[in-house]
Amino acid sequence: MASVELRGLTKRYGGSNAVDGIDLTIDHGCLVCLLGPSGCGKTTTLRLLAGFIAPDAGEIHVGGKRVSSPAKTLPPESRNMSMIFQSYALWPHMTIAENVAYGLKLRKLDKATIKKRVDAILDVTHLERYAERYPGELSGGQQQRVALARALAVEPETLLLDEPLSNLDANLREEMRFEIRRLHNEYKYTTVYVTHDQIEAMTTADRIVVMNQGRIEQEGSPEEIYQAPNSEFVARFIGGTNILKGRSDGDGAVVCDGFTLRCGQGTPAAAGEAAVSIRMHDIELLTRQPPDRENVAAGTVVRQIYLGALRDYLVELPNRAQVRVTTAMQINVPPGRRVWLRFPPVHCRALAPSAPDQTKSVQVETVT
Ligand code: ADP
Ligand code: MG
Repeated sequence: MASVELRGLTKRYGGSNAVDGIDLTIDHGCLVCLLGPSGCGKTTTLRLLAGFIAPDAGEIHVGGKRVSSPAKTLPPESRNMSMIFQSYALWPHMTIAENVAYGLKLRKLDKATIKKRVDAILDVTHLERYAERYPGELSGGQQQRVALARALAVEPETLLLDEPLSNLDANLREEMRFEIRRLHNEYKYTTVYVTHDQIEAMTTADRIVVMNQGRIEQEGSPEEIYQAPNSEFVARFIGGTNILKGRSDGDGAVVCDGFTLRCGQGTPAAAGEAAVSIRMHDIELLTRQPPDRENVAAGTVVRQIYLGALRDYLVELPNRAQVRVTTAMQINVPPGRRVWLRFPPVHCRALAPSAPDQTKSVQVETVT
């Protein structure tokens, strides 16, 4: 069966490594998301996999067979892979059925087989009634579904998707995330799905590979990546978290300005700079000073937003750090009021701090 293996995969452009020594094994039938900010090397990795470009170092193996190395790279048409791009690239002068049949005709299958496969795939992708229409007569979401149908029709060993939903509006994007997962459950092709959207990755993936500057920062199941980020970069990128900076006391706690956080998760550096990650919903907001001082900091409410079931607070600590906290709707404290935040040790995760330039471009979106 076709598992995909990247070994020390490297691609250089103009003196810098767009992909920098990636080692990754993708099991047969698995849907893996490459997740990371713009420019981290996701598309380059996918193009290397598809055989559009050759690596400068390292190798790619598919089903145990070497398909890419600096010395020899098998061309895309010999790889039994389908790739879907951000732009759906449908043929405008062909009907939907003809578009879907295109790859099968190229493979010189007989007419009856082509018809059978096209009918089956149009059925699964809920496109039967559009078979005789032209792409210009369909919505963006329907066109993207045709692109998927066309890629699946050739029964690829490996399916490669490069930000396939980024041209769709928010509602359609959500619907198509579930659709992609449903189709994956149906066909179980080994799939590499590139996205910069962490929610998209969490909805569709069996495994998430977080990339940063051409390297793999962390690989794991969506739960592992969310619950146990191993660096400040991953914690920030996956969203919904606060990062508090301080210095490690060498004994499992991080000393911040004016308060100390004992960490029940992660391993703080033996000494020196350290960071602590804690999710917004894991912090307790107290309106009275608690008798115990452990993992408690005083602060002032800067902003409060009513979100129906929840309230979203921004609280400033004495060291000027601002912390996002969500509470039950019943806890209603106006801006300007003094409050105390409790950071339960069990939810405090000590992390290796990232260099500032690594996290600059990261947009933090909330996953709750
Ligand atoms: P992503 O898909 O994660 O946004 P890319 O793989 O497209 O990132 O790009 C990674 C890095 O490689 C970027 O710095 C980009 O500018 C550079 N790069 C990608 N393709 C080329 C190319 N054909 N020529 C020169 N530089 C490139
Ligand atoms: Mg890209």
